[in-house]
Amino acid sequence: MRREDPISHTTSRPLEIRGLDLDFGTPRGRIHALRNISLDVPAGQVVGIVGESGSGKSTLAYAVLGLLPENADVTAGSIVFEGRDLLKMSAPARRSLLGDRLSMIFQDPMTALNPVRTIQSQMIDIQHHEQSSRSEKRGRAIDMLNRVGIPDPQSRIAAYPHHFSGGMRQRICIAMALLVRPALLIADEPTTALDATLEVQIIHLLKDLQKEIGCSILFVSHHLGVVAELCDRVAVMYAGEVVEQGAVRDIFHNPAHPYTRALLECDPGRIRKKTRTLPTIPGEVPSLLGGKRGCIFRQRCPQAFNRCAQENPVEYRIGVDQVARCHLLGEERLIPA
Ligand code: SF4
Repeated sequence: MRREDPISHTTSRPLEIRGLDLDFGTPRGRIHALRNISLDVPAGQVVGIVGESGSGKSTLAYAVLGLLPENADVTAGSIVFEGRDLLKMSAPARRSLLGDRLSMIFQDPMTALNPVRTIQSQMIDIQHHEQSSRSEKRGRAIDMLNRVGIPDPQSRIAAYPHHFSGGMRQRICIAMALLVRPALLIADEPTTALDATLEVQIIHLLKDLQKEIGCSILFVSHHLGVVAELCDRVAVMYAGEVVEQGAVRDIFHNPAHPYTRALLECDPGRIRKKTRTLPTIPGEVPSLLGGKRGCIFRQRCPQAFNRCAQENPVEYRIGVDQVARCHLLGEERLIPA
């Protein structure tokens, strides 16, 4: 039977990640790609993950989807989705969630769509969990294409992916991802390959459909403006750790972690003075090979002090709904979260 909208979620937090550690085995040693990640995606909310390249944003998204390479090894923690720990489920049980309760949109729509099959056959196949006829599934696919702004969907549904522009292909991917009415949609940099105008259109479309369907979204992006526009909450990642998280308005107006502040200062959308060169954060993301002691950001942090090289900072709560990992917050006598 087809589910009726809006979806009733079994929990107020469809996704709860706790203490997640993930390594990649390489010939040079183990890369500690994710360390002690704890993150919630509440029902009906959009949670952004931001950070520089190499911060672990996409690795985290792929860990939730169960689409990691064979050399990935989760060494601690849990990923609880609708009350079940995904890490304890069998591979077939996990696969059965994909394209049903859990859906995704990737950066490059061409890698998500099968180039030798029509949009129609792909949109009908993705509804394999539904007990309805082919013509009903086709009707729903046309309806969804119409909602994402594909002109003349009745005839265009018979076309192949290469008959569409990049922006239209990403609209089709959004239509496919939401057609199954997932509880959680994971979007990995879905607008990065698009120009600025298309990016705005896609973000508004995603926001409207998310509200209509009532799903949650985990939205990976390096574009802070897009995150501010779309998301309710944001987690800031640096070198495999979540260094700060909270409501978007708090993080953007009152960042507590030196890395979050540096990231915001480098956002082209927030620079008010005329400049020929965009600011960058001095230094580089450190290698994640081998064990680490102290704060992972200390080589680039303008406020680092002795303790930062000795101890890994714990999470401190700032206000009601914001936490950050920085020893300075302990010096301000904030209470660990
Ligand atoms: Fe900077 Fe130290 Fe805070 Fe790390 S713990 S962000 S190095 S002040």
